[in-house]
Amino acid sequence: MQLLSDRILNMATSATLAMAAKARELRGEGKDIIGLSLGEPDFNTPDFIKDAAIQAVNDNYNSYSPVDGYADLKEAIITKFKRDNNLTYTPAQIVVSTGAKQALANIAGVMLNKGDEVILPCPYWVSYSDIVKLNDGTPVEVKTSIDTDFKMTPDQLEAAITPNTKMMWFSSPCNPSGSVYTKEELRGLADVLAKHPNIYVVSDEIYEHINYGQGHASIAEFDDMYDRTITVNGVSKAFAMTGWRIGFIGGPEKIARACNKLQGQMTSGANCIAQRAVITALNADPSSVKYMIDEFKIRRDLILDLLGDIEGFKSNTPDGAFYVFPDVTHFFGKTLKGKTINNATDFSLYLLEEALVATVTGEAFGNPNCIRISYAASQEQIIEAIKRIKEAVS
Ligand code: PLP
Repeated sequence: MQLLSDRILNMATSATLAMAAKARELRGEGKDIIGLSLGEPDFNTPDFIKDAAIQAVNDNYNSYSPVDGYADLKEAIITKFKRDNNLTYTPAQIVVSTGAKQALANIAGVMLNKGDEVILPCPYWVSYSDIVKLNDGTPVEVKTSIDTDFKMTPDQLEAAITPNTKMMWFSSPCNPSGSVYTKEELRGLADVLAKHPNIYVVSDEIYEHINYGQGHASIAEFDDMYDRTITVNGVSKAFAMTGWRIGFIGGPEKIARACNKLQGQMTSGANCIAQRAVITALNADPSSVKYMIDEFKIRRDLILDLLGDIEGFKSNTPDGAFYVFPDVTHFFGKTLKGKTINNATDFSLYLLEEALVATVTGEAFGNPNCIRISYAASQEQIIEAIKRIKEAVS
């Protein structure tokens, strides 16, 4: 009998974490690697949030919390959804989890049966596909390109729908492309879904506040979508709290109750100190983190400018998140410093070994023509990294 389950043997390792591990290994050999592969703000958690956590420790928060989160945290989430997204939820529609990642895994766990199809506009966040597969679902990739700013069109959505379509999952702002769907674009997708009332939507809005001016829209805002959308959000990105591990959903009560049931058997409530701190984070005005967004915008402009100077890097202009996702097909079939580049994975590895810059292959996000470069790094690091890349490919 084999030791490990088919489930784990068939699962891909997270490409972003794999790249970070390879970069660490090279650093261990004394190489000066610039890491632009991880999706993690390089800021510290703001002091007012840290103070709330310290207060929670001193107030002896040390017991199990309710599985779906403290009641006052749920109230803060309800206020946040109303304030920022014009969405109205009751406490029974909210579940707090160990990161948005667990929230997504919960949704897949409670909604998918074998053979259920989940439409994933590509590029998509690296874990969607494996979370779906792990829960017996079938990912259906819808390819997009730089020509539509990496957004799925209503016609593409329509063409991907089959009698087995159960859900559609997407992120806006998108990791990895930084694309942000406008309200009109979301309405276009909702019009298609209006003809298919059994299809549910997971709207991953974790980069909501990292938006460079276009404004954020939630698909659940449309009356005809509210009852069949699960809105996922969290504090990892905008509040620089990746390690605190708090995410949450607002959605139909039946689904929220099922997530609560699953989480109750798998992990129980999320970390109690982090939950207390997140109450403070969410109750603060979003302008309290604007200094980070302003800096990300400066870096976005900087990296686009620098990449624009290198032949073969074709980028969209991301309206949110902190990634650029250049098309690098120009290099495919070429030999650089004796190494043949056949695809985005070869190219990303080439950049790691020759330019000592860690990026992530687009293959991990369902787009084999691109690489993802994170600009959650200092301006000095970005300037040095792109200089090295330019030298390595010229
Ligand atoms: N959704 C997207 C689009 C992400 O990029 C990430 C993290 O990289 C997550 C969800 C997971 O976030 P969390 O840290 O809350 O688990």
